[in-house]
Amino acid sequence: MTFQDLNLNTPLYNAIEDLGFENPTPIQAEAFNVIASGKDVVGIAQTGTGKTFAYMLPILRNLQYSRQDNPRVLVLVPTRELVVQVVSEIEKLSKYINNRVLGVYGGTNINTQKQAVAQGQDIIVATPGRLYDLAVSRVLQLKSIQKLVIDEVDVMLDLGFRHQLINIFDILPLRRQNIMFSATMTKDVDDLITDFFINPNKIAIAVSGTPLENIKQQRYDVPNFYTKLNLLEYLLQDKDEYSKVLIFVAYKRMADRLFEALEALFPNQSCVIHSNKTQNYRLRSIEQFREGENRLLVATDVMARGLDIDNVSHVINFDTPEYPENYMHRIGRTGRAEREGQALLFSTDKEQESRQSIENLMQMTIETLEIPEPVEISKELIDEERDQIKEHYNPIKRRDEDAPGPAFHEKKEKNQKENLGGSYRREIAKKYKKPKTRGDKNYNRRNKKK
Ligand code: AMP
Repeated sequence: MTFQDLNLNTPLYNAIEDLGFENPTPIQAEAFNVIASGKDVVGIAQTGTGKTFAYMLPILRNLQYSRQDNPRVLVLVPTRELVVQVVSEIEKLSKYINNRVLGVYGGTNINTQKQAVAQGQDIIVATPGRLYDLAVSRVLQLKSIQKLVIDEVDVMLDLGFRHQLINIFDILPLRRQNIMFSATMTKDVDDLITDFFINPNKIAIAVSGTPLENIKQQRYDVPNFYTKLNLLEYLLQDKDEYSKVLIFVAYKRMADRLFEALEALFPNQSCVIHSNKTQNYRLRSIEQFREGENRLLVATDVMARGLDIDNVSHVINFDTPEYPENYMHRIGRTGRAEREGQALLFSTDKEQESRQSIENLMQMTIETLEIPEPVEISKELIDEERDQIKEHYNPIKRRDEDAPGPAFHEKKEKNQKENLGGSYRREIAKKYKKPKTRGDKNYNRRNKKK
């Protein structure tokens, strides 16, 4: 497919020619008509696939010239770096178009941004927090937004922006086109889609289901978390064999739990990355793992994207990913540069269905190994493994992590009054012979006469 096959206009076409791009990337070719048609769209594409142009080309193609002040396109991204990058990409495409683009993000002077907003804009690119602040201050009016793009939704949710996104949805016009892009399909992303979007079109570049030939894949059926941990401990004792091990888990809490357990078993040999860790902490962890200071790295799917580390001896899937594509991405971290790599998959009974979809995608069966004799089979369960009733989304009910803490302080002793109620008033009245009721002014006089 060439750019001529897309229904571009001359200004866009010329801008692309100036950039020297020859052909649309697969995600651009696939997304153009669907997004241009105005439908809700979820795109699965990683950075580097040309995803920014995939959503911006059809949006700019349909954006009419206007002199109105209120923006019509809103692009939300998780970090300020991405705001800057997306704005610059839009500017490149807008070389021959007369439109106004503004990037806003937190950590900088809001008043300067307010002034820029007040000048009138067509497209706003923003991080959620700052966008919300600007909207609440009423300087930024969102009532004309026709298209909402949320880029890197997976990272956004991983960073804990879910509530902020929902707050923003609440103040956007109901009639709008929603476009979301995510590198990873996660349960959080799936939940957001089912809770807020009606039948969006999904577009994704098919993940190759053919794993590299130099990756040896094996799997274990393991009943629960603690048995998985025992098995992991048993395997990792062989330090020469397991020299650089990337261990994947689906979510942050599990990453922390596993990291702590590994620290206790193999002190100073492991590190962890997930989005609740600061950027510095993550960079340090990756460096320690890369340099071989630590031989174990625990990571979540979202954070492991973009990791470029050589000589990973083993990828261990401590859980079985629900989305088979994630398995392909995980195991692709080993067996790089023609070296032999090993991938292990741990699956509980509940995870067998996911294991099956992975095998279906690859059209092969993974060799099953028996749990070695010395590994203790545990009966103990963690909270997540006990049967749970799934609740429907309820914005009023807070999740655990949002719950307010205990009371701010205890009352001082002198302020801890007792409620003495009516009997107290009666006693005082008896003692001072005060009127029984406030209205009965003659009470004392009457009583004196007696
Ligand atoms: P992204 O995936 O949006 O982060 O884009 C990755 C890089 O690819 C950016 O620097 C784009 O300028 C570039 N790019 C986008 N579309 C194309 C294309 N069709 N051909 C060549 N490069 C492209």
